[in-house]
Amino acid sequence: MFKAELLERAIQVRSSQEDGARNLAACPSLVLNADYTPLSYYPLSLWPWQTAIKAIFLDRVVVIETYDREVHSPNLDMKIPSVIALKQYVKPSEFPAFTRFNLFLRDRFACQYCGDPHHLTFDHVVPRRLGGRTTWENIATACAPCNMKKGGRTPKGAGMHLYAQPIRPTHWQLQQHGKLFPPNHLHETWRDWLYWDIELEA
Ligand SMILES: [Zn+2]
Repeated sequence: MFKAELLERAIQVRSSQEDGARNLAACPSLVLNADYTPLSYYPLSLWPWQTAIKAIFLDRVVVIETYDREVHSPNLDMKIPSVIALKQYVKPSEFPAFTRFNLFLRDRFACQYCGDPHHLTFDHVVPRRLGGRTTWENIATACAPCNMKKGGRTPKGAGMHLYAQPIRPTHWQLQQHGKLFPPNHLHETWRDWLYWDIELEA
């Protein structure tokens, strides 16, 4: 059995006074590649703290920053890591995953026919019944009314115009758009590792 598995069993989530297990659950670690850039932006590479601690004991990561909270086991007290970096560099893929979130992000969370940011859904530019596929290049963000109006027609057939022809975005492009829609919660220790141009607090 792996040392880490033993350790995992040994670690009691015996959280101290103010730290309920519920709070511990919300202490994910930001995972950086060996070059100290995030392993992934979308989705942001976050590991549950248990996974992070396991990786520390497998000697696969180094700890960069920690939360104030600790975990306790019979022979170990350890601060929960908030930022870790892989020891071995992982070559990132050039293109982000084809997910609903990433597609909305590519289109800046706006209907590609009218610009409305509400009631968003996905439009097959060339409808499926005409052989249109579910790919980066054939799916556009559309609001429900535009989607209804277009129906099973091509944009031309419906007399509608796309703001931009859908493309398969690169990580860099999504990252540029992502800065317009920052996640709701970024732990303070993550900020230095995410963006160069984040506002520096005095
Ligand atoms: Zn619309």
